[in-house]
Amino acid sequence: MGQVAVKLVTYKQGETVSFGRLVDDGIVDGGRRLAGCASLREVLEAGQLGTLDDLTRGEAADVRLSDVDLLPVIPNPGKILCAGVNYRDHQQEAGASPEAEKPTIFIRVAESQIGAMQPVRIPAQVKMFDYEGEMALVIGRPGRNIAPESAYSHVAGYTCYNDFSARDWQGHSSQWTAGKNFEGTGAFGPFMATSDEVGDVSGLKLETRVNGQTRQSASVADMLFAIPDLIAYVSTWTPLAAGDVIVTGTPGGVGLFRNPRVFLSPGDVVEVEITGLGVLRSDITA
Ligand code: MG
Repeated sequence: MGQVAVKLVTYKQGETVSFGRLVDDGIVDGGRRLAGCASLREVLEAGQLGTLDDLTRGEAADVRLSDVDLLPVIPNPGKILCAGVNYRDHQQEAGASPEAEKPTIFIRVAESQIGAMQPVRIPAQVKMFDYEGEMALVIGRPGRNIAPESAYSHVAGYTCYNDFSARDWQGHSSQWTAGKNFEGTGAFGPFMATSDEVGDVSGLKLETRVNGQTRQSASVADMLFAIPDLIAYVSTWTPLAAGDVIVTGTPGGVGLFRNPRVFLSPGDVVEVEITGLGVLRSDITA
């Protein structure tokens, strides 16, 4: 397969859910053109990313971005695996052991996700709602026991992710699941840039802003466990399938560890921006 350099979105227009290619003035509908694939996940499962690229290249936009709601890039991943404390400055601010020899991995469920530009509601039961700007990757080629040397060949593309966290619920026990899985708290988008579109990820910069103020700023290269290590580690105990998502961890600067600590409130606007991966905007509501 040749180069497949494309930005892809999943969206809803009225009651119709589709996916397509992001272009300057909107979206070229891929769902209409690619028979037999009802979602980006199915495109990846069928190995049809190149076909989708061919069918949508050079086409005029079918819909404007302003006329659709963006959905999570992959709304229905088989699994969402998230790395915890995977940047040194976040490890330090969290007081975590600097000697961790293995990654910390927790799971999000698909229902916890939400698209870019969608309101993110602070759950009524949550008092300490916080952001975590992260880079996510989407698996394209399935695999088991993947060697670090071949890990990148299993990645279909990359996106921004905001692993919004209910810190009070996260702290109920040593297992973070409750605090990481309230409905509509995993913001995923706005688009997936394919691996060929992104190129070398080590030079990418990640920034998280709250109301325009920079709260997190890091290089993706600063991860403690790099992408190949994460893929190798998780694929040792679970098969990775097309459409699975790995969220790679957050840098220092989260609200929980600021002095004084500060949590999100209704009216706040949170943006996660990564080089070449756009801006993931979330408007916080009650
Ligand atoms: Mg996180």
